[in-house]
Amino acid sequence: NKKIIIVGGVAGGSTAAARLRRLDENANIIMFEKGEYISFANCGLPYYIGETIKDREKLLVQTVDSMSARYNLDIRTFSEVTQIDRTNKSIKVSNLQTNETYVETYDELILSPGARPILPPIPGIDEARALFTLRNIPDTDKIKAYIDEQKPKQAVVVGGGFIGLEMAENLHDRGIEVTLVEMSNQVMAPIDYEMAAIIHHHLVEKGVNLILNDGVNSFKNNGKKVITNNGREIETDMILLSIGVRPENELAVNAGLNVGDRGGIQVNESLQTNDPNIYAIGDAVEVKDYTNKQPTMIPLAWPANRQGRIVADNIYGEKVRYNGTLGTSIAKVFDYTVAATGNNEKTLNRLDIPYQVVHIHPVSHAGYYPGASPIALKLVFDQETGKIYGAQAVGTDGVDKRIDVIATAIKGGLTVLDLPDLELAYAPPYSSAKDPVNMAGYVAGNIVEGFIETVQWNEIDEIVANGGVLIDVRNQVELENGFITGAKNIPLDDLRNQLDNLPKDETIHVNCQVGLRGYIATRILQENGYNVKNLDGGWKTYSSAL
Ligand code: FAD
Repeated sequence: NKKIIIVGGVAGGSTAAARLRRLDENANIIMFEKGEYISFANCGLPYYIGETIKDREKLLVQTVDSMSARYNLDIRTFSEVTQIDRTNKSIKVSNLQTNETYVETYDELILSPGARPILPPIPGIDEARALFTLRNIPDTDKIKAYIDEQKPKQAVVVGGGFIGLEMAENLHDRGIEVTLVEMSNQVMAPIDYEMAAIIHHHLVEKGVNLILNDGVNSFKNNGKKVITNNGREIETDMILLSIGVRPENELAVNAGLNVGDRGGIQVNESLQTNDPNIYAIGDAVEVKDYTNKQPTMIPLAWPANRQGRIVADNIYGEKVRYNGTLGTSIAKVFDYTVAATGNNEKTLNRLDIPYQVVHIHPVSHAGYYPGASPIALKLVFDQETGKIYGAQAVGTDGVDKRIDVIATAIKGGLTVLDLPDLELAYAPPYSSAKDPVNMAGYVAGNIVEGFIETVQWNEIDEIVANGGVLIDVRNQVELENGFITGAKNIPLDDLRNQLDNLPKDETIHVNCQVGLRGYIATRILQENGYNVKNLDGGWKTYSSAL
């Protein structure tokens, strides 16, 4: 009988254990977890702190007893694996309750130790009393108890990633005044700036004190004061540090297993490390970016769960490859949903990969049926081939579905030219006969097919400042809410009468509210022999980034 040892008993580890048992009723499977709990709902932790999830038990997806009984596993909690001896195919285990250590041999070893919150040596960090990070149930209990008992009035959340944003909302839900400090110029790294800007406005609207382009310099008065690099001094009753995670790679490194630049354990497509009897999965591993094929770290639950199953299949000879991580992700930020898949502009720019983008602003379902709300949807693609590099969406409804459809399209190898042909479910409460994904495909397809050229929100100011022509084809009343400085207003329905007043020897730029009337105007002008570019995403994309 095969003896398989798993290190880490939560997302990746538990999934692997269950699949292993289903593949082999006779295997000897031992799962070691250094903490008290296995298979808990990491992703639900912020919502228990915010009291949306009221019952703590609900976070414990599986207990040691229930999982051992169902899958006949040897699960050992409070048991830290401290060393791997590859020559003798054994590990050293420390029982954290009794301080005993012992050795256990393996035929195959699976590492799923996860990633831990980054705790940089910021001056004053060791003295800060109410400074928290959030990874597991004990962290959650500490934060919740502090809020319940100490009733903090103010909190500083450091870092505007998923956990930081979710915690900002949940702390706010507990009546705490939240300051969010983010070093870069935007929250939510998987999306690009102009998309994140929608969230910035929303956070401010909800009363979050949002500080961008500034990092934490030091903590003073036992963590009662946060000093930023730009010299801000923020009084606070608690601090949540959520600036990212780093892989738990010590075991692997000490055993001579290969790790990448950012510390992720390197594995092949079968999830094997450089030792063929040692596999690694989850947040601790370096993965291949599905879109650009470069090594990267994407600590999310889907990859951990998928890899947990695949690793078991591979141990049992069924060669299922892990093809890389697309990074499809989603978060709730107060009333908004933010989601993304694949590569964004920042990543493609860094890798020098040429791309084109479109921004559209459709509604979540038929506008005439109550409750429709706008979705800002951005598609990033290759202008030559139409290959979809990625997509991002922000809105209050229907965002998840659109990003999931596009994520599926990417994995299915579809291009932007295929998106109009996706026959998606429609009735007025759910969508439109041309779903937002279809629309994104039409708009992107127009560019790939050379039917229209666009100019982007971040290019137009400079063009106008240098004397370029810009025509705003909205109706005059719409301009009361703002317009691009230097734009000349010619409402679309009047455009055909004004053709003689427009220059044929230079590029005319056109904008409207969301890009649709601009597109119609562009076609009218092109057909009349003008050189035209439409402002992609219109005033809406341009102004959200202001
Ligand atoms: P983990 O689930 O972290 O499990 C690793 C376990 O290994 C830990 O319990 C650790 O104690 C144990 N361990 C480590 N070293 C040893 C050792 N030497 N010996 C024994 N045991 C060891 N992802 C999403 O996709 N969507 C979300 O909404 C989302 N929300 C999240 C919210 C929070 C607050 C957190 C913390 C994470 C969230 N994630 C989310 C990320 C997701 O939880 C992780 O990607 C996933 O849990 C990774 O699985 P894993 O098995 O690699 O690591």
